[in-house]
Amino acid sequence: MEDFEREIKVLVVGNGGVGKTSMIKRFCRRGAPAPRDRVPLDLMRAAGVFTEDYKKTIGVDFLEKALYVPALGEDVRLFCWDTAGQEEFDSITKTYYRGAGAAVIAFSTTDRASFDAVPSWRRKVTAECGDIAMALVQNKVDLLDRAVVSSEEAEEMARRLGLKFYRSCVKEGLNVTEVFSYLAELHDRKM
Ligand code: GDP
Ligand code: MG
Repeated sequence: MEDFEREIKVLVVGNGGVGKTSMIKRFCRRGAPAPRDRVPLDLMRAAGVFTEDYKKTIGVDFLEKALYVPALGEDVRLFCWDTAGQEEFDSITKTYYRGAGAAVIAFSTTDRASFDAVPSWRRKVTAECGDIAMALVQNKVDLLDRAVVSSEEAEEMARRLGLKFYRSCVKEGLNVTEVFSYLAELHDRKM
């Protein structure tokens, strides 16, 4: 049976509290079309690879979503990996980074340290994964009245790092699907 589907492991990195877990849940769980059962994921499941116990053992967590990417004209299955609270660079295992094809680098509008840490996250991802598809995301744009990062600074950071820049509000679901869709396309262009 011809049922091939692209699969991309997507990392979501950034300091604690910026909204990574919320972003992954928002993208993968809400308003998602009913997941289709397909190989090879089913084969992996059958082999016991993606069980909750396995995730706990390796100390990571991920959710999956099949996303139709118009520019590619087909579904891409994205495995979105959460750091599961292990936000210190050195506490993140090699398993987390292994095989990743894309990464969201996130910071929060209300957390200066999370913005200042962006270049380090970028360096870490590049060191572990090479030149994979990445995007810079400023989350919590609903809290602009409490902003500690100006839009100019944020845009300058994105320019300096050569990353496409998005402003998101995970809470309202603003610019969440767009980020993952962009990464799926960019990943395809880098192949
Ligand atoms: P993580 O540590 O990066 O995984 O961050 P979480 O997803 O746990 O989010 C940290 C807190 O920020 C939680 O209380 C979320 O509800 C909240 N949060 C996430 N995204 C947004 C957003 O866009 N706006 C607002 N106001 N709060 C958010
Ligand atoms: Mg989290």
